[in-house]
Amino acid sequence: MKRILVTGGAGFLGSHLCDRLVGSGHDVLCVDNFFTGSKRNVAHLLGNPGFELMRHDVTFPLYVEVDRIFNLACPASPIHYQHDPVQTTKTSVHGAINMLGLAKRLDARILQASTSEVYGDPEVHPQQEGYWGRVNPIGLRSCYDEGKRCAETLFFDYFRQHALDIKVVRIFNTYGPRMHPSDGRVVSNFIVQALKGEDITIYGDGSQTRSFCYVDDLVDAMVRMMDSERGFTGPVNIGNPGEFTMLELAEKVISLVGGSSRLVFQPLPQDDPKQRQPDIALARSALDWEPKVALDDGLRETIAYFRQVLAA
Ligand code: NAD
Ligand code: UDP
Ligand code: UDP
Repeated sequence: MKRILVTGGAGFLGSHLCDRLVGSGHDVLCVDNFFTGSKRNVAHLLGNPGFELMRHDVTFPLYVEVDRIFNLACPASPIHYQHDPVQTTKTSVHGAINMLGLAKRLDARILQASTSEVYGDPEVHPQQEGYWGRVNPIGLRSCYDEGKRCAETLFFDYFRQHALDIKVVRIFNTYGPRMHPSDGRVVSNFIVQALKGEDITIYGDGSQTRSFCYVDDLVDAMVRMMDSERGFTGPVNIGNPGEFTMLELAEKVISLVGGSSRLVFQPLPQDDPKQRQPDIALARSALDWEPKVALDDGLRETIAYFRQVLAA
């Protein structure tokens, strides 16, 4: 049994991670400022002696006693991270410094939830960890992309300079229950639109691709990475290599939900990556991990969740 801090633990991924860790008998401290996360996501854990919830913003120092830290605090959807871009960079950069300082004081193992966005709009396909990326430093997505890149830099400098026990995973698009219905990400948008019988909004011509990982697979990989041997730092890509265009995704959602939604085409946002697919060879060999949930199955679970949320 370990004392584990999860920052951003009341968010979509964080709440599933808290579930898994509490379920495995750990003592979990969930820290969140509830910017995009919500107490509802962890309400079922309140009252469990293995779970504690603390309202705190990671851009401020945090003095607690733990053995391990999962650093997930950061809004992940474009509309949320672009809402207050300066705060987004602060969350990634000051948040990383504070959590690394905490890990250093405690000699705790610390894992960073990085992102495929560090590859930007890539000219290498699929993306391998050795690829340095193609990121616009001054665009609308930069607060997120460059914030996450700087956080990776900090992790590796604390590793080299202070021999910290770090782990870095680069998460590719992940979906599932507890995504925020209005956070603007493509899977939640399409499902909510289809369930309401509204038009499905395709940005651009819909030929851009993404690879979608179901949340249970993702949590499994994060836990395996945290448990991997000391010195194995990553970065490791975590995602599902199944690659789909946004048109294919829309058609899948419409056929699973049923109903009469039509496709409408809207302008492509600035710097929207044209294609994205993880090369997960490293995760396969080092973590003995690969995703198990097919897109159709994961979408069914997610649709069932949003049906409930919309009916409430
Ligand atoms: P989310 O927005 O649901 O969760 C982020 C959580 O962090 C929220 O609970 C939010 O309130 C909290 N938070 C934000 N700023 C904070 C601050 N300053 N202090 C404390 N808490 C703060 O998003 P998610 O999809 O669960 O993403 C979790 C992590 O995984 C993020 O770091 C994100 O960058 C990373 N990630 C997610 C995906 C994905 O597809 N879901 C892909 C790549 C990376
Ligand atoms: N910090 C924290 N909790 C701790 C220890 C440190 O939040 O238990 C923060 C503190 O704000 C500090 C930052 O982490 O500024 C970086 O710590 P570090 O020891 O690397 O550097 P310092 O700035 O203390 O020299
Ligand atoms: N997208 C879309 N319609 C929507 C929301 C998103 O066509 O209603 C597109 C978006 O332009 C991008 C892809 O879907 O090409 C994935 O978007 P998301 O915001 O989910 O993730 P990210 O761009 O960060 O990978």
